[in-house]
Amino acid sequence: RLYNQVQDLKGSIRVYCRVKPFLPRQNNYISTVDLIEEGSITINTPAKHAKGRRSFNFNKVFGPSATQEEVFSDTQPLIRSVLDGYNVCIFAYGQTGSGKTYTMSGPKNLTEQNQGVNYRALGDLFLLAEQRRDTFHYDVHVQMIEIYNEQVRDLLVIGGLNKRYPLYNVQFSLILTTLEIRNNSQKGLNVPEASLVHVTSTYDVIDLMNLGQKNRAVGATALNDRSSRSHSCLTVHVQGRDLASGNILRGCMHLVDLAGSERVDKSEVTGDRLKEAQHINKSLSALGDVIASLAQKTVHVPYRNSKLTQLLQDSLGGQAKTLMFVHISPEPDAMGETTSTLKFAERVA
Ligand code: ADP
Ligand code: MG
Repeated sequence: RLYNQVQDLKGSIRVYCRVKPFLPRQNNYISTVDLIEEGSITINTPAKHAKGRRSFNFNKVFGPSATQEEVFSDTQPLIRSVLDGYNVCIFAYGQTGSGKTYTMSGPKNLTEQNQGVNYRALGDLFLLAEQRRDTFHYDVHVQMIEIYNEQVRDLLVIGGLNKRYPLYNVQFSLILTTLEIRNNSQKGLNVPEASLVHVTSTYDVIDLMNLGQKNRAVGATALNDRSSRSHSCLTVHVQGRDLASGNILRGCMHLVDLAGSERVDKSEVTGDRLKEAQHINKSLSALGDVIASLAQKTVHVPYRNSKLTQLLQDSLGGQAKTLMFVHISPEPDAMGETTSTLKFAERVA
């Protein structure tokens, strides 16, 4: 409750910065991060400009030693608001390799300790729903899509899966054409064609996330990791029925692992890579424009400039709550990207 009041006063967009630790083989590197405080980060700026330091302010900054549990701790109130019928978006932004997937999902060798936001959010969701069982009945469905080159693809499609989920709404085409604004849509879904799977536990969702990850990797080779060039979005739809009044509450949570934000050198890439880069560029700036205009409370919010912002339109702004985790890599090589990431984040914070 208190969180919600504070949110209403401060607006509903929060931006957290997370600094990736050096990996074991990088232990002789010198970090570009000069100082981390609760709500600010100071970095060394590139030498080609006048060498100096610059500070950026955020709602919170998590240093390299922050645990997954610490990073999630402030997210819990958002889960409660999904059950209360609000829409929530949680984003991971940053250059490839900066830790987006680590924050959202976790590392490859997943343990209970190092599980990311997705798992923790769903765990809390089912726990809270269970705690409210005497007053509410909750139904939870998930969808998982990918946006690649401004095309929306269903990530929960695969031949064998419908054997495990007999009620599974199987689609035969990966590419979906219909995007709707949820509140205007009859089924209450933004992407009515995407597979919609009823889930009753975190385990169900983990299975589906694994499937989605597999589908996301289809077509990607070691050198051509498409996952860094597409946005993936796990959407959790929650419908709650008040057992006393019969009233229905609908909330949803979008967990978005964004495409890598790195600028590619236009002189070096051509063809498909250039096209991908242009699409990513366009959609990330569209997202930045939408969040910045919400933060500044401008009248016109430019949702229509990308598939991503169209898709999330009813979960960005209004009563919805947005949380953006902005990731930076402390390597000296990454200094240029770190600066542009922090500038992006400063604009939306
Ligand atoms: P991205 O999704 O932004 O491309 P990853 O999440 O895949 O980046 O992170 C790159 C590598 O760094 C992975 O091996 C990941 O496990 C590791 N890593 C990222 N963040 C952390 C962290 N906070 N603690 C430990 N390892 C991390
Ligand atoms: Mg990733």
